[in-house]
Amino acid sequence: MSDAPTFVNIVDGTDAPAAGGAVMDVPSPHDGGLVARIAASAPGDVDAAVAAARAALPAWRATAPLERGAAIARFARLFDDEAGDLAELIHREMGKPLAEAQAEVARAAEVNHHFAAEAERMWEQYLPSGGAFGAGNHVRGEGIGVVAAITPWNFPVALIVWKLAPALAAGCTLVVKPAQEAPLAAWRVCDIARRSGLPDGVVNCVLGDGPALGEALATHDGVDKVAFTGSRRVAEMIAGWAAPRLKALSLELGGHGPLIVLDDADLDAAVDVATVQGFANAGQACYSVNRVFVPRTRMGDFMDAFRVRVAALELGPMATQRGFDRHHELMDDARAQGATVEGGGTVAGRRLAPAIVTHARHGVRVMEEEPFTPVVTVISYDDVSEALAEANRPDYGLVGYVCGGDLRRTMDVARALECGTVVVNGWRVVVAHAPYAGWKGSGVGAELGHPGMEAFIRWQHVRVLA
Ligand code: NAD
Repeated sequence: MSDAPTFVNIVDGTDAPAAGGAVMDVPSPHDGGLVARIAASAPGDVDAAVAAARAALPAWRATAPLERGAAIARFARLFDDEAGDLAELIHREMGKPLAEAQAEVARAAEVNHHFAAEAERMWEQYLPSGGAFGAGNHVRGEGIGVVAAITPWNFPVALIVWKLAPALAAGCTLVVKPAQEAPLAAWRVCDIARRSGLPDGVVNCVLGDGPALGEALATHDGVDKVAFTGSRRVAEMIAGWAAPRLKALSLELGGHGPLIVLDDADLDAAVDVATVQGFANAGQACYSVNRVFVPRTRMGDFMDAFRVRVAALELGPMATQRGFDRHHELMDDARAQGATVEGGGTVAGRRLAPAIVTHARHGVRVMEEEPFTPVVTVISYDDVSEALAEANRPDYGLVGYVCGGDLRRTMDVARALECGTVVVNGWRVVVAHAPYAGWKGSGVGAELGHPGMEAFIRWQHVRVLA
């Protein structure tokens, strides 16, 4: 497939090959073939992208909110027009079934439109002091500056948009660095941004080796904020680079999602949540249901229904060989430590059968760490306080789920879960107008909603005394 397309950096609105024209391959998770080539950028290419973002910053930051909102709305409409292509690219580069890729793009489109409208609401506040007109306290927000957006491969479009749309709305300019495993759809989002008429340099994109470029961005003098989504391991490095340089930072990391099924829950609904959120994206989702807590008295009925639903699933290939190997390591560990593993074998290539683990004790890896592979562990409990304590035990706090009949009691359990998001009696997690935040080891800061926009704003108090 020597005719595979080549994607190069976008710097100041133009195509910018990496220094020396270096390229690298993007292999297919479906069959290992060549999907595309991308620029293999070096730190010098990051310098050029950051310089373009800095040059574009003063004018974009000073653009009137109504005008900025209109520009983001044009981007959002072009994104809508090209949604089908974006979904197709996601499917090809990271293996997600096309329907799931279409859903990712559709939800991201909602985020674009939400923040186009939010851009118009950059009100200033004024508290008069009682003296001359205009005297008092003026409080105004403006874009925090140049944002480095560093994202993983599992939701390659959505996780760019969660940063891009609010950052643009606030008046920031960006350098986007997608994951090297799935850079194409993310690149296309940046391409849509430039073709929609956003000023040159407002959205730049650098492609290539993740570690080298991530470090170059997180240490760069010209970057004011690093907005990172990915693993805790890399987040600690990013924080280590950004913190002594006093850069603003947001970190959206992994989860270890508990689902607490209460004794009066609708069991079919609970099984639906466990099945859909346990195995969406072949388990490669930060919001996955990883552990299901079921009252001992209802364990038999739950397992019977869960097994039937899970047996009907067909998963896409694991996006990376690393993830595929990790799944087998986790299954081997569970078996070696006396847990029961149902399913979980290789179907073909990098496709896995979904796995259900029961009888797992503390210390079994799937009880302690985010699996990020298609496995759900089911744990029986006698008392809900015991289930809550176990649900909150690992150092994660991203998304939790509760299914229950009595709403007041269900809400009490929801509030007791130490998670930034809790979903009650269903599985749809994300909406554009509510924050998505990792608590504890799942992150710092929030994306989406008001907090997700404020994360890109710096505040100024102008105190007019006379
Ligand atoms: P990762 O941490 O390996 O990669 C994330 C980004 O960092 C990529 O752009 C990558 O190229 C870059 N990177 C990798 N190594 C680096 C290094 N040494 N220095 C600097 N940058 C580096 O994560 P991943 O494996 O791509 O993604 C999976 C993780 O992301 C999971 O833990 C998942 O739960 C998490 N995630 C969190 C959310 C959320 O919103 N909280 C959403 C999706 C995924």
